[in-house]
Amino acid sequence: MTPDSRIYVAGHRGLVGSGIWRELERQGFKRLIGKSHGELDLLDVSAVERFYANEKPEYVFMAAAKVGGISANEAYPAEFLYQNLQIQNNLIHGAREARVIKLLFLGSSCIYPKLAPQPLKEDSLLSGPLEPTNQWYAIAKIAGIKLCQAYRRQYGCDFISAMPTNMYGPNDNYDLELSHVLPALIRKFHEAKVAHAQTAVCWGSGSPLREFLYSDDLARACVFLMQNYSEEQFINVGYGSDIPIRDLARLVQRIVGFIGEILWDKTKPDGTPRKLMDSSRLFALGWKPQVDLETGPQPGGQIVGEIARKQIVHRTDRPHLIVAYLARPGEIISLEKNLADLPC
Ligand code: GDP
Repeated sequence: MTPDSRIYVAGHRGLVGSGIWRELERQGFKRLIGKSHGELDLLDVSAVERFYANEKPEYVFMAAAKVGGISANEAYPAEFLYQNLQIQNNLIHGAREARVIKLLFLGSSCIYPKLAPQPLKEDSLLSGPLEPTNQWYAIAKIAGIKLCQAYRRQYGCDFISAMPTNMYGPNDNYDLELSHVLPALIRKFHEAKVAHAQTAVCWGSGSPLREFLYSDDLARACVFLMQNYSEEQFINVGYGSDIPIRDLARLVQRIVGFIGEILWDKTKPDGTPRKLMDSSRLFALGWKPQVDLETGPQPGGQIVGEIARKQIVHRTDRPHLIVAYLARPGEIISLEKNLADLPC
């Protein structure tokens, strides 16, 4: 990629896509292309073909997908399977037709077999049964990885895939029914604190382990891979260690400053017991994560400008978690009155 390359970020307003967009801007890429859902319906094959013909992107980051937490996956299996297949078919096939130079597709750690050996190595994919709660999403994402490999083999397309672990950061989904665990916990504890509630309810047993990567780190990895990786085998992008959900809940509780009790609703599913990824192939190429879940960006790490400008940063020593919640579009103002409650 050069500063003048035409680069399309599909899903540029989401958690992952907005991080990739910020990183590309930071690195000086000037011709970024982003389309809102209203401007381009990725489920519509003709619209995607027209988009490719008109905009002629040279590089494509595929951060557009139907995503959601454990509950959303169970509630909407049809949408998770159909929409993801459709979006990726349209974007990957269209990229070949439009002679896109390089495309990066994103899988997810949750598409590995439920009981694959930990940490998860790339060659564990398709080695056993999937976790039932997200099998629909997993089947679609596995098909996307295979499609990239097939187009590489048959047509020589430079289509690569990365396998990110659980993500968090600005522009995440905070809907309590549909979101992933981290945004849900940030919101639950924040709201419980503001309401002076005695208890806050978390799901499952608290014993599963999850690995978390900040979206800016994933964005750096995606841009790095676009510039340095061209293999058929997909590559894991993780942080390198994981945390039990129970400890995560205590961490978020402490950061938010909620002093009530945590209750565990065991009628909710636990999902996969563990999905720590082995990211040693990526680490060996020279990429390392910079943002720690507990301590935040290390010296030299950068908090998104949007957040720094709102001067929330000085109110807590772990701003990357709190501000991920506060940085929700449209939520800043309504929460402003509560900022004084944040721990200093
Ligand atoms: P998963 O990683 O695909 O299983 O999806 P999630 O991020 O939704 O859930 C991860 C783990 O966190 C599961 O064991 C959930 O039961 C647990 N969890 C605890 N509290 C919550 C909550 O409030 N929301 C969600 N989504 N998960 C929760």
